[in-house]
Order: sequence, then structure tokens, then C-alpha cells
Amino acid sequence: EQLKKHFPKHKKAFSKTTEVVKAVDGVSFEVFEGETLGIVGESGCGKSTTGRMIMRLLEPTDGKIYFNGIELTSLSKSEMRKARRDLQMVFQDPYASLNPRHTVEKILEEPLIVHGIGNSKERKEMVKEFLQIVGLNTYHAKRYPHQFSGGQRQRIGIARALMTNPKLIIADEPVSALDVSIQAQVLNLMQRLQEDLKLTYIFIAHDLGVVRHISDRVGVMYLGRLVELADCDSLYEEPLHPYTKVLLSSVPVPDPTYKKEEVLIKGDISESVPKNGCLFHPRCPFATEVCKTIVPELKEVKPGHSVACHLFDEAQQ
Ligand code: SF4
Ligand code: MG
Repeated sequence: EQLKKHFPKHKKAFSKTTEVVKAVDGVSFEVFEGETLGIVGESGCGKSTTGRMIMRLLEPTDGKIYFNGIELTSLSKSEMRKARRDLQMVFQDPYASLNPRHTVEKILEEPLIVHGIGNSKERKEMVKEFLQIVGLNTYHAKRYPHQFSGGQRQRIGIARALMTNPKLIIADEPVSALDVSIQAQVLNLMQRLQEDLKLTYIFIAHDLGVVRHISDRVGVMYLGRLVELADCDSLYEEPLHPYTKVLLSSVPVPDPTYKKEEVLIKGDISESVPKNGCLFHPRCPFATEVCKTIVPELKEVKPGHSVACHLFDEAQQ
């Protein structure tokens, strides 16, 4: 609820004011049990920062995070460590997130030790069980991360996230570093695990095709704000926000009967962020005067479909 993360900008010498970078600036959404909520946007839109704040790997500047009725930002460090048993993260680069000097067995056992689960013998059994659950073999337990392919390493990363029997998995670009041929295997594995283990996913990606494949609902972020949130089908078939239309028009269209609406935009995301109004207004072909001064709020304009754009202000009345 209203999550924010502001970082101080690198200070210029003799400058008295500290400018801030608003990496995430007032993002609110819900995730329902058993669903996959996709979060998409270009790099730098704040999607990873949002995921890390939910895990409290990054402290929010402001805002609240409710998980099964518990407000996570109010928990002490040790209480949060306990809560992390239910919330786990899968990272983009499994190689960087797996200790190269530890065997797979040790890597997978670690979360069990941290949370005081099982004795040594039981933990070793669980490691074997989870290796099989993610499609690896028990003899892989004694090997080191470098002895695996990228896809296998991501399976280990997923197994590690599952060891504590979590409810929510936040997957930050889990297949972006993998070959396209391997991506589908890992996505299919994640979908099977979701059904078998009753998991809820927040699936972060810049690739709209991947997100469509796995998500029930999708949120689109732009410069630290959520600009559209909808059921997967209505987002892809009837995108409302001009920025979502831009994102979709750069995606290959598999169905030739689908007429995508081409939206041309000016400039790119790296241009300076406007101080007022809709953050997309310098690039938006539909911008009017109001867009330069008033921030559009994310509002539901159709059942299950919310958008932050002044073009839809009237749909409210
Ligand atoms: Fe474009 Fe205005 Fe909508 Fe922003 S609020 S996306 S500038 S029409
Ligand atoms: Mg990222």
C-alpha cells in the first residue's frame, strides 16, 4: 500500500539540496492467494525494487506491506527473518545467487538450518526430495553450482526457495538469463509447482510474452509507478494506458488477425523525469494540458481493469 523507495541522488559538490531518485513512488496492489501477478516494465521502472521491498531486502521509504494480515514493515529484523519462511525470492541470475564454494546439498540445506527445520538426517532427505521435485537427481546433491547448466542452476535456485514450504514466491526475471529453449521448461516447472504446492507468485519481467504465459493478472510499471493493472487477457487484448500500448506494439504478434494499435512515442525513458503531472506526458501522443500538471491516479475503469491516465477520467463519472 503506497510503497515508496526514494534514493538520494549523487550529490553535486557545494549543492545544499539533496535530490532524490524516486525508484518506486506510491505503488499499491493486491496479490490473491494462488494467483500469479505479473509485473512488467522497462529496466529502471522500479519492479525489482518493489519485489525487494516486499521481502524487506530493501527498506521502503514509505508505505505498508500486508502479508496474511501481518504488516511486514513493522516487524523487527528477527521477526522478519521468521516471516521469510513464508516469502521467498527467486533471482534472475542463479549463478550469482548460489554460493560457488558450497555443494548443492549445503545450499539447499541452509534455509532449513536458518529456520530450524528438521534434524541433519531429515534435512538431507528433504534436499533429495526437492531436487526431484524440480527435475534434478539425488546424485546432484554433492556437486557444485559451476557443474550445472544455466537452466539446472535456476532449478536449484527454485528448489532453494521452496525448501521452507513458502506461500509466496517473488520471482525477479527468473528466466531472463536463460536461452529461449530453456525458458519454457523453467516456466512450465514453475507452473506445475504452483499447482502442486499451492503457491502464489509475483512474477517480475521485462518480457511481455513471458509474463502473458504465466500470469493471471498483470501490472505495468513506468518510472516508479503502476500505470495499469488488469486481468491478463484484458491487458493484452484491450490495453488502455498509452504506455502499455507502446510496450505491446513492440512485442511480436503471434495471431495475424489481431490488429495491434501502433502508438508512436517520442524520446526514451532515460530523458529527464518530469517534475509534475503524468510521468509519461513528455512521450505521450495523447497528452493534454491537464497531463502536465495533475498526476493521474490508478482507478478501476472496468471490472478488474485499472489505469492511471486522464483519458479515462470520464469513465469514472
Ligand atoms: Fe498520456 Fe495524459 Fe494519459 Fe499520461 S495521463 S498517459 S500524458 S494521456
Ligand atoms: Mg530488475
